Amino acid sequence: MHSIASHPTSSRRMGELSNAPLHGPVPCPHLLSPIELPGGIVLPNRVLMGSMHTGLEEAPNGFERLAAFYRERARGGVGLIVAGGLSPNAEGNMFEGMATLADASNAAGHRRITDAVHAEGGRILMQLLHAGRYARHAQGVAPSAIRSPLSTFTPREMSEDDIERTIGDYAKAAQLAREAGYDGVEIMGAEGYLINQFLAPRANQRTDAWGGSATNRMRFAVEVMRRVRRQTPAPFIVAYRISMLDLVEGGCTWDEIVTLAHAIQDAGATMINPYVGWHEARIPTIATLVPRAAFVPLTARLKRELRIPVVASNRINDPDVAEAILARGDADMVSMARPLLADADFVRKAAAGRADEINTCIACNQACLDQAITGGQTSCLVNPRAGRETELRIEPAQRRRRVAVVGAGPAGLACAVTAAERGHEVVLYDAAAAIGGQFNLARRIPGKEEFQHTLRYFSRRLEVTGVDLRLGRAIAADELADAGYHHVVLATGVMPRLPDIIGIDHPSVVGYADLITGRVTAGRRVAIIGAGGIGFDVAELLTHAEPEGETPAERFAAAWGIDLGVQARGGLVPARDAASPREVWLLQRKPARLGQGLAKTTGWIRRAILERKGVHMLGGVRYERIDEAGIHIVIGDEPRVIPADTVVVCAGQQSRSDLLEPLRR
Ligand code: SF4
Repeated sequence: MHSIASHPTSSRRMGELSNAPLHGPVPCPHLLSPIELPGGIVLPNRVLMGSMHTGLEEAPNGFERLAAFYRERARGGVGLIVAGGLSPNAEGNMFEGMATLADASNAAGHRRITDAVHAEGGRILMQLLHAGRYARHAQGVAPSAIRSPLSTFTPREMSEDDIERTIGDYAKAAQLAREAGYDGVEIMGAEGYLINQFLAPRANQRTDAWGGSATNRMRFAVEVMRRVRRQTPAPFIVAYRISMLDLVEGGCTWDEIVTLAHAIQDAGATMINPYVGWHEARIPTIATLVPRAAFVPLTARLKRELRIPVVASNRINDPDVAEAILARGDADMVSMARPLLADADFVRKAAAGRADEINTCIACNQACLDQAITGGQTSCLVNPRAGRETELRIEPAQRRRRVAVVGAGPAGLACAVTAAERGHEVVLYDAAAAIGGQFNLARRIPGKEEFQHTLRYFSRRLEVTGVDLRLGRAIAADELADAGYHHVVLATGVMPRLPDIIGIDHPSVVGYADLITGRVTAGRRVAIIGAGGIGFDVAELLTHAEPEGETPAERFAAAWGIDLGVQARGGLVPARDAASPREVWLLQRKPARLGQGLAKTTGWIRRAILERKGVHMLGGVRYERIDEAGIHIVIGDEPRVIPADTVVVCAGQQSRSDLLEPLRR
């Protein structure tokens, strides 16, 4: 068995889109129409790539790799890229050793990035982000010495001199960005970072000219904007990222936000880019369970107040959704960050009428934000080339080979279409009747519906690349050997592990796959053995209820206590979730808190959902037996019987590798 080697000898780019003229109606006419910004710069379309810290900023060869990363996105047709964010000084770094834009020492490196983007006809801004009290180091500063829940360090309260100096640092950083070839900067005034901290009573308890009244609290934001604009006159773009809804206690009121937006506009902003939620908010704003474009009605409300362009963001990952926002006049541009990690060619595919070939961001956060937050390097679960453009170069094979791929889960699908794209003749086998493997289960979990788009993407890629797909029958090792393939790739995935518990064959016991696919149904009282990711998925499925007569966005807002009417300070109201139709116990052997091993940026959401639904979460469980009475367990020395009608086994998986040895022989 061989892996498929790459041959970095040709420069032809795989999957290159045709530039042939389109026939028929133009797809996404609003999204793809040009926009002239205040100051005169004309962008070719309305797509803004939102800023994401990739981790390449601090990596070896970082500038070269960032240049390749952004070059691909510019070539893919993004109208305006926002890079970064970098702090204007060392105090504002998120962590020690983070790249800054405080002096000219990195100008040549940044020039590499801006040249690469400009060579593709793109435009790029640098985001200026001062972490304030979110800094995870001892030099952090903030309007008041109040520690954030996201850092173990209490920040130093800024003196008036500190404030003046920091405003100057912003202006100097903007100047440096201009000298490095950036088309503008975006001032990060949202997500709970320094500027946001000045704005909200939650983090600003000053009694001088920079705190107290709403006018004083917004003085820092407006001064930064004014000073940056004075230093870098138009047509240099100065975008401002505003927190449209803080979603924290002690956040701003809607009136304060509108007043700030006016002041920022008057101080010379080119555009306003609203965002929802501070990082410390306990309400999801971009995770996959957030309905697409859920916050756009607020963007539309803010846009009606302003004359400069306003950008829509948060959970927009599809060209039709973006087009509808612009067609309704709810925004002037649409911001997407993760969707452009998932597919650098998003815009060009949409423009070519090939939206069904877009590799859709499923908002899982697994390879991007979960990495970024732990200091790792950002990539993408559905596009591992993201951030690795200089390493993973997928180029035409020098010799066409016959390749068999066994297993049509995400790994087998990715392997099959990539091999075919490179010119190999590929046959893809799966015993199941449909492609997808474990993704076919994930897409059925409430709030994970986006996963089906990965399967839509691969389904289309199989057609386009001409992979011979053979479903519905397990292929045997001797058949593979007889067929004379040059390479056989095993991507046969996993099968559920069955724990050794007395009564595991009792009729009340079901496997998670049978339950999720609906082959069996659960009773009213359910015990789940195993509290890993799948145990949580099953608990969410079993406790889910959809009240009639509410849109997904209304349901989501009610369940999480979001005030879309923006009457309350911070945008918070009491949550109101639908009751669970079942009583559920989630059990694990480990004595640790349940869900501790879940992903950093989404685990807390999943725990919160189950807590709200009244799920009993029990750790340190020893399983004794399963019988008519339910499941008998011991916690510590205390025996208990959980009176479950159904026991669902989610006790991990083991690799399915039965073809490996026969094929090796
Ligand atoms: Fe989107 Fe997940 Fe990829 Fe991040 S890792 S860009 S959330 S698909």
